[in-house]
Amino acid sequence: MSTILVTGGAGYIGSHAVFALKNAGYEVIVLDNLSNGHREIVEEVLQVKLIVGDMSYRSLLDNIFATNNIAAIMHFAAYIAVGESVTDPAKYYRNNVVGTLTLLEAMLAASINKFIFSSSCALYGVPQFIPLTEDHPQNPISPYATSKWMVEKILTDFDAAYHLKSVSFRYFNAAGADPNGLLGEDHIPETHLIPLVLQAALGKSESIFIFGIDYPTPDGTCIRDYIHVNDLAQAHILGLQYLLNGGKSEVFNLGNGSGFSVREVIETAKQVTGKDIKIIERDRRPGDPPILVGSSDKARTQLTWQPQYPNLPEIITHAWQWHQKRHIVEAKK
Ligand code: UDP
Repeated sequence: MSTILVTGGAGYIGSHAVFALKNAGYEVIVLDNLSNGHREIVEEVLQVKLIVGDMSYRSLLDNIFATNNIAAIMHFAAYIAVGESVTDPAKYYRNNVVGTLTLLEAMLAASINKFIFSSSCALYGVPQFIPLTEDHPQNPISPYATSKWMVEKILTDFDAAYHLKSVSFRYFNAAGADPNGLLGEDHIPETHLIPLVLQAALGKSESIFIFGIDYPTPDGTCIRDYIHVNDLAQAHILGLQYLLNGGKSEVFNLGNGSGFSVREVIETAKQVTGKDIKIIERDRRPGDPPILVGSSDKARTQLTWQPQYPNLPEIITHAWQWHQKRHIVEAKK
């Protein structure tokens, strides 16, 4: 069976993808610098080989490719906080763009030419129409989004010049957790809405901030398309099989096609958890488009992708189960 190198496999979406790869029968090696990932998830829960290191070290990559028979790479390793990317763009361009470039050059030097890339719907910028389709104009409004846009451009040029075949998945808002309760979303620091709301529900914080109440949306708060992390992981398996079967380079949106405002997410979390959650309204967070809702018809048609958990209360329920379980484990420590 083929061996797949997963960068960022100790992180949130990466760890769910590793789990899906294992279940589909692939050998997996994780490369992660553990800047945000979790060693114990890879070693104890997923039980796959973990190489702790950074993709910007070319000699490390050359060594990995020389000593393992890697068929393809799934690349999740990236910084992901939109707001931070506005205040510290160098961090985002160095890691997300330069680090990825190093990885691509190393894999090509090792004659590996199949690459699955975690891209983002953020590269569309402020939508000109909804739902966003893959051919929507691209106008990223944060350095994070620009870093994803740049890598997609590099992938296009590398296919033309070096025959690198890639699938870029433009995620909408990844959320939820594997229903087995062993994997979940655990960023430090956490910046994402759903885990922050659930932390507030657990009493780990006093309140949740709403960043912006004057957006041109029905309730004034930003609207996002939340997609279950297991459904994202499943798309990666399909994308991998597509490339291994000789597919040409493609980009695909991955979302559910329905949007929920920040207020609606908090309301749903209140219902799921049965807890009251205090809200504090704040100014807009820089770099946030008012609405991001996508069409994933292309992935459904070309990859036969079918989300299993499209329902927001169910997505939040899975996340809640994991947060509660982790809370109990932490309390025992
Ligand atoms: N958001 C918020 N309060 C928070 C975190 C996020 O109001 O504590 C908003 C954020 O401004 C955006 C939406 O929730 O409009 C989703 O943000 P998140 O960081 O979860 O994902 P992103 O869309 O940035 O990938």
